[in-house]
Amino acid sequence: MQNNLTIYNTLTRQKEIFKPLHPPFTGLYVCGPTVYSNAHLGHARPAITFDLLYRYLLHLGYKVRYVRNITDVGHLENDADEGEDKIEKTARIEHLEPMEVVQNYMNTFHRNMDQLNTLKPSIEPRASGHIIEQQEFIKHLLNNGYAYEVNGSVYFDVLKYSRKYKYGKLSGRVLEELQANTRVLEGQDEKHNPVDFALWKKATPEHLMKWPSEWSDGYPGWHLECSAMSVKYLGEVFDIHGGGMDLQFPHHECEIAQSTAALGKESVRYWMHNNMITINGQKMARSLGNFITLDQFFSGDHEMLEQRYSPMTVRFFVLQAHYRSTVDFSNEALQAAEKGFQRLFKGIETLKKLKPSDESTLDINDLRKKCYEAMDDDLNSPVLLSHLFEAVKYINSVNDGSEKLNSADLDTMKNLFNTFVFEILGLKDETEGKTDEKLTGDLMKIIIKLRQEAKNKKEWAVSDKIRGDLKNAGIVLKDHKDGADWERE
Ligand code: ZN
Repeated sequence: MQNNLTIYNTLTRQKEIFKPLHPPFTGLYVCGPTVYSNAHLGHARPAITFDLLYRYLLHLGYKVRYVRNITDVGHLENDADEGEDKIEKTARIEHLEPMEVVQNYMNTFHRNMDQLNTLKPSIEPRASGHIIEQQEFIKHLLNNGYAYEVNGSVYFDVLKYSRKYKYGKLSGRVLEELQANTRVLEGQDEKHNPVDFALWKKATPEHLMKWPSEWSDGYPGWHLECSAMSVKYLGEVFDIHGGGMDLQFPHHECEIAQSTAALGKESVRYWMHNNMITINGQKMARSLGNFITLDQFFSGDHEMLEQRYSPMTVRFFVLQAHYRSTVDFSNEALQAAEKGFQRLFKGIETLKKLKPSDESTLDINDLRKKCYEAMDDDLNSPVLLSHLFEAVKYINSVNDGSEKLNSADLDTMKNLFNTFVFEILGLKDETEGKTDEKLTGDLMKIIIKLRQEAKNKKEWAVSDKIRGDLKNAGIVLKDHKDGADWERE
């Protein structure tokens, strides 16, 4: 299988031609959400970035196993080895079982992902469902001498590891500086060194999510799940591992250390990281009051929002920037994205109506080539969109008669939009459903009027039949003195 796809590998800090290990098969692992709160704009970016990659790999003909995990245990506050489990904290505040919290926010996350039109992963493993695999992984690390047990907890020995391998190669952190800058928190004196990190934590008596093990009743450290689950589902060496830039350290750095120490080799061949979204130049945080959930974007129900923004506007907004560049949210930026999205889809409407000429004034194969070149250049979606907007300009010119497209090129143009807009960028027409709703409303007005005319003529059999037939179709009429209303059963 041949392709010209290049991707920026965070590990080597350069663009590399994508050469999968076992073509046409390829594995993609992406760190998914910790499900302790509603999904927000920060969740939309990795979801859309790796959806774009997944869709493009599928388009190129690869058979992709796309694994995206759900973190439902072990992720402690501040990404540290001490503090409350994020999910248990929400459970305490909301008076719920931890697994109710997980189910609740996982459902919201899935609904939001459907709204954003992201394809579902092939496997969506949960950390709590892979406790045994994580314990087995710890045993490997203990056997290989890269982990040690203290008071029922097990820690990864970073210094020992760094004598053989390079710790910090992904994030560029230097071990000596880390050692100098890592604060020793109370309770961390169990560690041989403050840079060591937890693989297994002994649970306190009040801790809710805990499992038996040969070390203690406890729970796994946050980084361990991704090492255990990626290797389980994609093999000891797999092609692509993705996630947000904020996960490079400590999460992904620790993942590399764990997998390398356990298996004696690098697991991941290409590391990909999306950049972050800021809000009016600031990081998104609850404490700053600029924490906007996806549901709030879709409804407009947040004081910072001047209007509602549809899921496709949000998707378009994310795709307008290259995934490695920063994106700043503002109402103006989203309103511009909304206009851009509408202009693109108006172009597609116009394209449907174009009549072919007997000649063409455009080199459509050149346009198609440029679209592929943009995607092959490390998924350059903003450049791809600029080519599509050039095409829209051209479509409008054909429509007003100043340019021409012959029948074959017109088909190629339609094909091009189907491929790039719908299949690869994953955009969809949001007015389609609405058009159906409007049509239903208009038809119901006609039916109600006809029935009223029958009643006026005292044709009761006719008016009753209309009511009965509508009921069979799932529509209930409610008569009142001025006519009737309708609703779905
Ligand atoms: Zn992860």
